[in-house]
Amino acid sequence: MKMKVVIVGNGPGGVELAKGLSSDHDVTLVDHESVPYYSKPLLSHYMASFLPEEKLFPYSPGWYEERGISLRLGEKALLINRARKVLVADKGEIPYDVLVLVTGAKAREPTAPDREHILTFRTLDDARRIKEELEEEGEITVLGGGLIAFELAGNLAKAGYKVRLVHRRKTLLGLDEELSGMLREKLESIGVEFHLGTKILRASEESLNTDRGYIPGRLKVCAYGTVPNVELARRSGIQTGRGSS
Ligand SMILES: Cc1cc2nc3c(=O)[nH]c(=O)nc-3n(C[C@H](O)[C@H](O)[C@H](O)COP(=O)(O)OP(=O)(O)OC[C@H]3O[C@@H](n4cnc5c(N)ncnc54)[C@H](O)[C@@H]3O)c2cc1C
Repeated sequence: MKMKVVIVGNGPGGVELAKGLSSDHDVTLVDHESVPYYSKPLLSHYMASFLPEEKLFPYSPGWYEERGISLRLGEKALLINRARKVLVADKGEIPYDVLVLVTGAKAREPTAPDREHILTFRTLDDARRIKEELEEEGEITVLGGGLIAFELAGNLAKAGYKVRLVHRRKTLLGLDEELSGMLREKLESIGVEFHLGTKILRASEESLNTDRGYIPGRLKVCAYGTVPNVELARRSGIQTGRGSS
């Protein structure tokens, strides 16, 4: 009988592991999200309408089935019962011989008060919501100065949207002033308005209140990086350290 491998997480890590194991093992993939594997690096291209949504999915709908991978989407893993070798999920129990957690990370939440006025950006659901609001508003304020914020701002400006980028540090991507200045100029040349060295004090529906004054804009999206998804492991008594390293 084939060994039953249960993988939690259908991101690139989980899906590639499933692909590698599926010829010799009975593989089940469990993921909280309700869509098959998609490319996160392409999300800002989709939001800018450079790509249709179906291009985000590298594998066809029948891909999992052809490999005999049982896919359980929209299902959250809650607890691991290691004594019984069972994964307890919100839609039932899943027995395993080997369990692998590839639970990745989630978006870091904004710390400003009234953060319900700020959206986060990590998943396809986030991207769909932001795209819908963007098409209505025609403008966006991106919070953050890392790679994801920079790429998002650049693609949306190229697509013709009015884009503001607010970052509490004075330079982008943790670079020195010279290199950061070069990147800034590149995005300024396509219309991005920069607010570097700017601390957000409060968010409201219509604007951001910062230590350098008000920045208008209804659609505000935070791309502050990620925090590891360690809840399942911690709740199950597994030591995680910092979760990421
Ligand atoms: C907009 C964007 C652009 C990016 N661009 C690049 C790039 O250009 N180059 C690059 O190298 N990286 C890029 N990244 C980062 C890259 O996407 C991540 O490094 C990668 O997704 C990590 O893969 P993973 O499989 O470890 O985890 P994740 O992709 O985070 O997947 C983890 C999965 O586990 C699921 N999960 C977690 N907990 C549970 C639970 N309890 N129950 C059920 N399911 C659960 C989640 O729903 C998720 O689907 C980008 C990320 C984003 C958001």
